[in-house]
Amino acid sequence: MTIRTVGIIGAGTMGSGIAQACAAAGIDAVMQDIDERALERGSKAISGSLDRLVKKGSLDEAGRATILARVRTTPRLADLASAQLVIEAATENEALKARILGEVEAIVDPGAFIATNTSSISITRLAATLKLPERFVGMHFFNPVPVMALVEIIRGLRTADVTVEAVAALSRQLGKTPIGVKNSAGFVVNRILCPMINEAVFVLQEGLATAEEIDAGMKLGCNHPIGPLALCDLIGLDVELAVMEVLHDSFADPKYRPAPLLREMVDAGRLGRKTGRGFYRYDK
Ligand code: NAD
Repeated sequence: MTIRTVGIIGAGTMGSGIAQACAAAGIDAVMQDIDERALERGSKAISGSLDRLVKKGSLDEAGRATILARVRTTPRLADLASAQLVIEAATENEALKARILGEVEAIVDPGAFIATNTSSISITRLAATLKLPERFVGMHFFNPVPVMALVEIIRGLRTADVTVEAVAALSRQLGKTPIGVKNSAGFVVNRILCPMINEAVFVLQEGLATAEEIDAGMKLGCNHPIGPLALCDLIGLDVELAVMEVLHDSFADPKYRPAPLLREMVDAGRLGRKTGRGFYRYDK
């Protein structure tokens, strides 16, 4: 089935980015959210991002208008009925996602594909709530979606090959590189990245070096574009802690235990850039 229209559920950080990436690749995007203000914010985020591209000279005014015209917003899920692919990018909550996916299955064509952008919930378990689990797959985009080149395609136990092939082809059409991953906590990237960041917090906690020295070490010694503690501030310390807890619970392996300092800082409300303070200060 050719994917001409993608339905996107959730107009937040990820949903609006996915809608923009689809529209920029010539695919119609219908973005749905229960919160009208989120739809407004999502549309503004897209136009703001395109404005920056125009300013940089990488997009002209006509291109900007064409991309914007391909994104439709709606508070009604029923408006996604004609999509050949629906990507769920709503709040990270398993019960909520299972309910939304059931509603999607009831309105789309039986041949349509259904994906979720979840960062941590089992694709196999979400699929088990559906009538046709074969057409369900994980599509894990990275933030900011229009910039980041990777999509992890997560195959649940019952995901069909045709589903994986369809969303991998779509990812390529969006200019991204898909990698196939079996369903497992943290998938590939967070499984490797989050324990590394957590280890950097242990190193800081043990007083082996300062935050600046740890980050300089990984930037200069490993050619990372950003140090692990600065990256943790960007991701959010609460998000890093949540991923470590998922890994720890899923594998029951003590190597994934969250660093006590990470938990302490989350308890103190030092969540990183979004609260103005994490491992570094972000004064306005
Ligand atoms: P967000 O909070 O920015 O947006 C979530 C949106 O979902 C909100 O606008 C909310 O109103 C909407 N929503 C809630 N319930 C809904 C419902 N019943 N129907 C329709 N919309 C509903 O969150 P986000 O950062 O965009 O994350 C969305 C998903 O993407 C999550 O599953 C998250 O784990 C995943 N993800 C996030 C990132 C990231 O860096 N932010 C990266 C990869 C994956």
